[in-house]
Amino acid sequence: MSTEKDIPQKNEKTEHKPKPVKAETPIKRKRIPDYEHLFVTDENAKEKEVPKKRKKEESSWFLKSFFKNNFWSILLSMLLYVIKALPVWGIPIITSNIINIATNPVDENTTTAIVINAVVLVAMALENYPMHRIYAHVTNTMLRNTSMGIKGALIRKLQTLSISYHNEMESGAIQSKFLKDTESVDLMLRTMLINVIPNIIGVIIAFGIAVVKGGTVSLFFLALIPLNVVLPYLFRKKVKASFKNYRKESEYMSAKMTNMLSMLAVTKAHGLEEHEIHNIDATLTEVREKGLLVDRVQANFGSVAWIINQLLNGACLIFCAVLAINKIIGVGDVVLYQSLFVSISNYISGLVNLMPQIHQGLDAVASVTEVMRSEDVEMNAGKYVGAGIEGNVSFKNVSYRYPSNSSKYVVHNFNLEVKAGECIAVVGSSGSGKSTLMNLIIGFMKPVEGEIDIDGRPLNDYNLSEYRHNLSVVPQNSLLFSGTIRDNIVYGLPKYTEEQLQEVIEKANLNEFLQELPNGIDTHIGEGGAKLSGGQKQRITIARALIRNPKILILDEATSALDNVSEYHVQQAISSSIQGRTTFIVAHRLSTIRDADRIVVLDNGEMVETGSYEELMAKKGKFYELKKLSDIVPTELTEEQAKQL
Ligand code: ADP
Ligand code: MG
Repeated sequence: MSTEKDIPQKNEKTEHKPKPVKAETPIKRKRIPDYEHLFVTDENAKEKEVPKKRKKEESSWFLKSFFKNNFWSILLSMLLYVIKALPVWGIPIITSNIINIATNPVDENTTTAIVINAVVLVAMALENYPMHRIYAHVTNTMLRNTSMGIKGALIRKLQTLSISYHNEMESGAIQSKFLKDTESVDLMLRTMLINVIPNIIGVIIAFGIAVVKGGTVSLFFLALIPLNVVLPYLFRKKVKASFKNYRKESEYMSAKMTNMLSMLAVTKAHGLEEHEIHNIDATLTEVREKGLLVDRVQANFGSVAWIINQLLNGACLIFCAVLAINKIIGVGDVVLYQSLFVSISNYISGLVNLMPQIHQGLDAVASVTEVMRSEDVEMNAGKYVGAGIEGNVSFKNVSYRYPSNSSKYVVHNFNLEVKAGECIAVVGSSGSGKSTLMNLIIGFMKPVEGEIDIDGRPLNDYNLSEYRHNLSVVPQNSLLFSGTIRDNIVYGLPKYTEEQLQEVIEKANLNEFLQELPNGIDTHIGEGGAKLSGGQKQRITIARALIRNPKILILDEATSALDNVSEYHVQQAISSSIQGRTTFIVAHRLSTIRDADRIVVLDNGEMVETGSYEELMAKKGKFYELKKLSDIVPTELTEEQAKQL
């Protein structure tokens, strides 16, 4: 796992413009709206069991809070909808009026009546334009705000979730949640406001007109409409199940794709392209099958609904025609009732057709809620924010085991007092728990037993985000982002001076290297620092760590992936970095260890020896053995040797 806390976020391709010395304006808080309340209830996740019930509860909580939060906007939007859609119901009434007048002209007022009806018709049609614009503005503003708010809430949450959460979660699954699921939620809300609610209003108004016009036909409507409603219930289960399977499968595929891309170089190096293609092929086929199933269910759904619709429309026409023949209703009324019935049918089948989208949206709500309600966050609010720390670190009976393998302690009963400014080297064979120990100091994980005190105060009491401003990490694999060397060194710093930058460049042993570059520190390094050697990248990471002037510096195998020459340069950088701060160095190389005040030897998570280099060598214990086994390789080049290489 990566231990770097400065995960690059920036990904830009700016020109080689020298950056201003003072960094940009400080980040404004809360620029992205946070709609967390749409997902999180007050008694957040109290009842963990009964996932099915929970899911329903999650979606209904989401919808409830959405409607509650936007109550007035939704009400306004619906009101505007009714006004702008008046012609839809008004025009059939006028049409039937005019036909009734034409087929049964009684007195001399016929012409006037027709003119009045015509004027009303034109006025209603024209009114639609301005009203529709206002309606669209109100509705879309609300929808776009919500869409951004949901994404904002998810981003915020992902940033506060602990590193252990991210380790357990496949990054592809998170990507899919972020991109696809938030889109589905958007689409669902849009469908609800633009189709579902207006359709329901439409049904009510059309039915109301039928009742007002005369009861007989409305009774007929009442008998037939339920047939249009029965259908969705029949298909609901099937549609839901097929969507769920499909979503799961495509989430799995995204995770696999992400994996495949990150492994590309390894795959090619081992000639395993065919294997990978075959591997992904199976997943793609599965996604296709599940997708086809969804399509089939939907096609079935649509077609059967359409046929039933047509048959019902026909039945209504015949019923009205019989009434007209018997002079119970006028000829114009046949047209009115027929068009009312058609619009009711359309509204209802529209509702039926929208069900899958709504289901997909509700599924996505549950999936996003899963992240939003995860409690694996760093609770920083209200915690201790010191003016800065000195760097005294004390381990008191610290034990840790990973949740995924809870039977084995990876760090066990670890005790150590480290004074501010001390340099501690941690050695031990691979898997002995060195990185885990470092992550405990960073606060990525909490000890299962015991505690770590910083300046005599439990780490648990600290606001971790603030605490980490006093701490820098140089991991084994330097994480650099596309941009200039300068961007990478000053990443996330609110301000710095050119002198500070120069000082860390000096300490990180970067000077010579930068002088050879055409643009010096403003040279672009390509994605992930592709244009640099391992040692160069590592020294940039060291400069990034140092410019923060940390009180605690952690170097986790910072040199172990390097060749001798690079290692020599990085070693020089480390030696000049450790002064004046508490340093933890996980190292294999002798030279680094010699610089340390104390050496701690870990074996299976337990401290088996501690002391100075000379003491441990004289003791002829575990450390001596490790060294003899060449696990710690003595490679000390002289300056001349290094320069010749
Ligand atoms: P070292 O850095 O000394 O090589 P680590 O601290 O990385 O050792 O790992 C110590 C032990 O913890 C190993 O047995 C490793 O398999 C296990 N381990 C490390 N990370 C995890 C994790 N995220 N989940 C479960 N086990 C882990
Ligand atoms: Mg390690």
